Amino acid sequence: VQTARTEAVQEIISRPSRSVSYPKSESTSQPLPLSEFFGENVFTMAKMEKELPKPVYAEFKKQMEGGRTMTKQVADAIAHAVRVWAMNKGATHFTHWFQPQTDSTAEKHDSFLTIAYNTTSSGLEIKAIDAFSGSQLLQGEPDASSFPNGGMRATFEARGYTVWDTSSPMFVQEGPHGTKVLYIPTVFISYNGEALDEKTILLRSTEAISSAATRMLHLLGKSDVKRVFTTLGTEQEFFLVDRGLYALRPDLKICGRTMLGVVPPKHQQMEDHYFGRIPSRVLSTISEVELELWKLGVPVKTRHNEVAPAQFEMAPIFEEATIAVDHNLLTMDALHRVAHRHKLKVLFHEKPFKGVNGSGKHCNWSLCTDKGENLLDPTATPENNYQFLLFLVATLQGVYKFSGVLRAGISSASNEHRLGANEAPPGIISAFLGAQLSEVLDSIEQGRDYRPPAQHKVQTVKLGGTVLDLKIASLPAIARDLTDRNRTSPFAFTGNKFEFRAVGAKQSPSFPVSLLNAAVADGLVQVCDALEKKKGSKQVPSKEDILSVVKDFIVATKNIRFEGNGYSEEWVKEAEKRGLLNIRSAPVAFAQLLTPENKKMLTRTGVFTEDELESRYHVLIEKYTKDLLIEANTLKYMVQTNVLPAVFKYRRDLADGVTALEALKESAPEKKVLRTLSEWIEKTLTALDSLDTLVKQVNDLKEPEQQVEKASEFTQIFDKIRYIVDQMEHYVEDSIWPYPKYYELLFAA
Ligand code: ADP
Ligand code: MG
Repeated sequence: VQTARTEAVQEIISRPSRSVSYPKSESTSQPLPLSEFFGENVFTMAKMEKELPKPVYAEFKKQMEGGRTMTKQVADAIAHAVRVWAMNKGATHFTHWFQPQTDSTAEKHDSFLTIAYNTTSSGLEIKAIDAFSGSQLLQGEPDASSFPNGGMRATFEARGYTVWDTSSPMFVQEGPHGTKVLYIPTVFISYNGEALDEKTILLRSTEAISSAATRMLHLLGKSDVKRVFTTLGTEQEFFLVDRGLYALRPDLKICGRTMLGVVPPKHQQMEDHYFGRIPSRVLSTISEVELELWKLGVPVKTRHNEVAPAQFEMAPIFEEATIAVDHNLLTMDALHRVAHRHKLKVLFHEKPFKGVNGSGKHCNWSLCTDKGENLLDPTATPENNYQFLLFLVATLQGVYKFSGVLRAGISSASNEHRLGANEAPPGIISAFLGAQLSEVLDSIEQGRDYRPPAQHKVQTVKLGGTVLDLKIASLPAIARDLTDRNRTSPFAFTGNKFEFRAVGAKQSPSFPVSLLNAAVADGLVQVCDALEKKKGSKQVPSKEDILSVVKDFIVATKNIRFEGNGYSEEWVKEAEKRGLLNIRSAPVAFAQLLTPENKKMLTRTGVFTEDELESRYHVLIEKYTKDLLIEANTLKYMVQTNVLPAVFKYRRDLADGVTALEALKESAPEKKVLRTLSEWIEKTLTALDSLDTLVKQVNDLKEPEQQVEKASEFTQIFDKIRYIVDQMEHYVEDSIWPYPKYYELLFAA
């Protein structure tokens, strides 16, 4: 029988693949080295220097260092230069590109076309010219009320501004059929200057951490450091499924995840997908994505199969956090667009398929001075590296005191399926340091000599690792990292950075990283205060001063450190004993943004105003409720209009068979199946009724706070319906099952 499902599968098999062509050298027609076209679509500082009059460029550089507003002349000169550059690349439009609270980006295009009017006796003559002014570069004015704003903007006070963010470069992006647009990274603020976007918050948080970290370094005598940058490298996980099959699944299309479906007999249990050969259609897609991203100056580096079938990962080389966030959003966008060309669909949802692994976005995070020093680099002898120890305990202090804030930053209806679901870090925030650093901190706490853990007694190599003896004469000795891995920790030290592993694949890294920055900035301020007090009137603190402060904070933050299995039941009990938060649901996590302690920290670091925090909270809870209502209505639609009719039909076929067989006086054991199906149908109908009731209850509630609390009850009903429908999928004749099954979705690409 031909069905939409079988047709989709046949189409996949006969579809030609799309080839990717790398830029070639004009003279030798050899592929160009990557470094030669990397960033070719970016208006870099180097290009600015080349295109701009010297004084204009000098003025712009000064402005970037802060504390100066841009003059009209400078803005006009830059606007002119960037327009000429962009038009030479074929751009016809420009756009202010910004990051509303939707986990994606927003843009509105304007062409460079301008009209000059000439009044003559016969009427208005018009003349077309290409133009782009400094004020168009500096400021745009989108309708603020049409973006999530948590009550910050009512429809009748719609004014919002986008303002050029000079810290991130402009670039030209290619669209379909060769359309090209100049992208101007901007922040998005309200008429009163409140942040309506993710970028403003992130920029404020990097300022906060820069000034706290600089203060610490000055205290230690490093007065030449002017700024400290947050560095970020985002490992992006995602699924790629066939578009034809995807199009037949309303749940994937509308909710980004399957709400029904039986896990096939073989999925990820053989551990044969992870790091396996990348399927060719996927490799072409990722290659084309990389090509676009390299031209856009995104330093993508790694690609590989992830644990679940149809799951993959891409990771860049780390950059300054604000740029890394822009680049992560561009990466997600490029994956989305390019997958489409290859007839694939990328899924960023944290848990698109029940029963197999979900997707995260590991945020590798550190601090780097303007002199290029990584402040979380333990060096070969962390036990004597006091500066490192101060930054380490300050980080622990921030994470410990404000774990609720971090938990809020990673929460959503979708990431809820992943957090605490025994495959990703649990709802408890803790920090993993590894054997060596744990010993360093323990020895300081106990006031005894440092005893290097056994494995670190081997000969030390230059980069701070140790040498591992492979006991195979023909292989070279390799350097071993100072820490082993702990996949179960939400916040793990990995050599010279922390890896915030609990961040969801779908979310913008901006919000969680901003909150982490704020928490650690506050930790740094507290450590600085303590150190300043200890130091007294001395020029710089003595070794003893530092050690004593470090020790105090080691003791104070001990509870946040956990080296064991974060997925285990024991940890849940142990964490409770330690008084750590174990937050299981997103709405409870969101409320952490508004506890008095957390609110104080987020405002005193200058990252949020109180109003902004309230509005974020409202955006988050409203989004959560909407997500669940959409899922509820999608599930109902699928079950009512496709699943049940298929079951009815199959039951009718069975009944016809039974009647015929009984007329022939044959036994008809099908009756058993028929009866079972009848029971499940009853159960489905009852469950759908309770779903309806809950939808109505949520909708009838007046306050968003009440709605979100009620909405968190949906998950239970979803699970119930899914369980019943999946039972029926096991029985109903395959050819009449209406939706592509898991094995088709997961193994088609
Ligand atoms: P690991 O294997 O320990 O995860 P990788 O070298 O694969 O380390 O790095 C993972 C990600 O962490 C990459 O995006 C990398 O660029 C990033 N990263 C490395 N060092 C830093 C740092 N100092 N700050 C932020 N990110 C970093
Ligand atoms: Mg990693």
